[in-house]
Parts: sequence; structure tokens; C-alpha cells
Amino acid sequence: MRRTLIAGNWKMNGSIQSITELMNGIKAGLNEVTNADLAVCPPAVYLMKVRGLIDEADIALGSQNVCDQEAGAYTGELAASMLQEAGCKYAIIGHSERRSLYGESDELVAQRYAMAVKSGITPILCIGETLEERESGVTEEVVSRQLDAVINDQGVTALGQGVIAYEPVWAIGTGKTATPEQAQAVHAYIRQKLSSLDAAVAEKVQILYGGSMNAGNAAELLAQPDIDGGLIGGASLKPADFLAIGKSA
Ligand code: PEP
Repeated sequence: MRRTLIAGNWKMNGSIQSITELMNGIKAGLNEVTNADLAVCPPAVYLMKVRGLIDEADIALGSQNVCDQEAGAYTGELAASMLQEAGCKYAIIGHSERRSLYGESDELVAQRYAMAVKSGITPILCIGETLEERESGVTEEVVSRQLDAVINDQGVTALGQGVIAYEPVWAIGTGKTATPEQAQAVHAYIRQKLSSLDAAVAEKVQILYGGSMNAGNAAELLAQPDIDGGLIGGASLKPADFLAIGKSA
């Protein structure tokens, strides 16, 4: 049985004051979330602060990226070893904003994925199609290609060491959520693809949905058989909304 994971991607939002309020709010309602694991992925500069705020609470910490190299002259990047020292259990890899705004290719994303796994950090691999790709009927080809970048480089077992987040690009930050049926269809496709390569990996891997998931639509999405949680952007910045999503699991 796969456990539900609700991970908050705070993106480039927050201040010391606001993240303190956010974490205190989440901690105050944490005992009501019984069927899901929670994780928060703050901007890197706040990782240590958030680690302190989490204290003994059952909330995992994650980063928003990982460098594809171990150490050295990579200005602006963060090594997996540093993120691990900061207390990260998870790392978001290949978010569509990294792919589209900062030009991260499938190959670079795969290298970042490998580095996270090597350092004992669980990568949350983001994949998903643009609106244009969906409208031209190539959603499955797109997610398949994005998964193949990791599979061809590291084997399907590497995907068993991570989490997959299906995030249709047209649903991210737009308020336009995929319907439960649309999301389930892609999740089922992903699981079938993995199953054809390694049934145990397919059975085990958590596939999260991301894209305007909120307190109002989470229950229906999370009720789908192949949706094992959510990667939450906007709604993860409000404690009540984030907790409500956790409670819908
Ligand atoms: C995200 O950025 O991963 C995301 C899903 O954002 P939002 O929930 O705001 O659509």
C-alpha cells in the first residue's frame, strides 16, 4: 500500500517572518493529518531556518533542486551533500519552471536526479506536458520521454528510489486543475509504462499530482487509484489550505 505524500513547493516565496508563521500554522494542525506524510520545500536560503522550525514535528524537508555535480566551481548551485547536511529528505527535480525558464534539459534533469539518489536524497521528479502538447495529443509521448531520460541513464530501478510528480504545465499556477479523470489517465499510463519494465518498481513508486491542487479539489484527485499524493504550489503557502489537502487524503 502506497502512503500518500503531500509536498509543498514554496517556490521563491516568503520571508523569515512569513515562513515562521506558515510553519507554526502547519504544526498547530498537524495532528489532524493522519493519512498523509507532509513535506515542505522552502527556498534554499531558508532550509536551515525551516529545519529548526520543524524541530521534532513529523514534517519532512525538501529542496527545490540539486546540482548535477558533486562540488566545485558551479556558482549558484547547491550540492546534494549540502542539502543532505541541511536536513533534506526530498529534492524537487525538473520542475517545469526550471525546464522552461532556465532551460534545464531532460539530460540535465536526469543528472540532477542521479546526484540526489547517490546522496540518499529522494528526488521528486516532475514531468508533464504543455497545453500545446496536450492539444496535439502527445501527452503520453512527452511524459514517456521525460521518464526515459532517467531510465536510459540509470535504469528503471532508479525510479524506484524516487517519487514522480505528474504536473501538467497548463495546470501549474493557473487555477485550471486537471480533472480527476484526466490526471488518473496519465498516472495510470506512467504506472503501466513502469510496470512493463519492472512490476515491483511500478507498484511501489508514489506518483503525485501537481497543478492547482487545493482544499476544494484535493479529495477527488487523491481518491484516484494511481494518485498517491500532491505537489502543491500556491495552496502550500496557507497553513489551513495545506492542512486541508493533507486531511483529504
Ligand atoms: C507547482 O509549482 O509544483 C504547483 C503545482 O503549483 P500550483 O499548485 O500553484 O499550481
